[in-house]
Amino acid sequence: MAKRITSSTKAAAKGPQGGAAGTGAAEAKGRSSTAKKSQAQAMPPAADPETVAEVFRRFEAANPHPKGELEYVNPFTLLVAVVLSAQATDVAVNKATRALFAAADTPAKMLALGEEKLKAMIKSLGFYNMKAKNVIALSKRLCKDFGGEVPQSRQALESLPGVGRKTANIVLNTIYGKPFIGVDTHVFRVSNRIPLAIGGTPLEVEQGLEKIVPRRYLRHAHHWLILHGRYTCKARQPDCPRCLINDLCRWPGKRV
Ligand code: SF4
Repeated sequence: MAKRITSSTKAAAKGPQGGAAGTGAAEAKGRSSTAKKSQAQAMPPAADPETVAEVFRRFEAANPHPKGELEYVNPFTLLVAVVLSAQATDVAVNKATRALFAAADTPAKMLALGEEKLKAMIKSLGFYNMKAKNVIALSKRLCKDFGGEVPQSRQALESLPGVGRKTANIVLNTIYGKPFIGVDTHVFRVSNRIPLAIGGTPLEVEQGLEKIVPRRYLRHAHHWLILHGRYTCKARQPDCPRCLINDLCRWPGKRV
């Protein structure tokens, strides 16, 4: 379970405890210096409804059909890719999964491949031993309890080994079009910075976003926020001068 972070200012600079895709040493270093700078400054309250709507209106205008960057060929391979993405970048995961998914794109094929061969194929990723165990265990559960299909409920997904709420939300959003927001390190940081929803845990941020993001934007909010955090509102040196919402952002540490 994610630890609570007591200061929303720290949260804006840091990201959720437990990490997610894209968390790395450089980001940690950046978080440290940014946090020091911003700790002395008070965070404003969360944005009002008109500002939130304007933020997403601009995201939509700039990128009407946002897509995630993990490669997959079916619901099962997306689920595996998201499980593998903990503490790894999407680029690193994609490098490892191209050969893996060519060899095993269903739970039955993953079981036939076996844990040792799976480990060898994903050993470039951190925690590959534990991730391989989880992928084999979740493949067994999918075959045994779900007819080899990826279930469409959050509860069922979260019952699978290695699958938490963030992973379940990403799969349900990307594959089944549900208006759920998977809060990874980027969504957490961006939401606390602007600030949209302020929270000390990913769950608080997720529930806050679900309350304030206008319904028509909920379907794509997850991908807009991730892409904004990955390419513009980076943990270290956010690109504020080129940010399309820099006039709406009230983060005391913004660089404009
Ligand atoms: S102005 Fe800077 S800190 Fe604010 S959202 Fe844009 S990139 Fe992030």
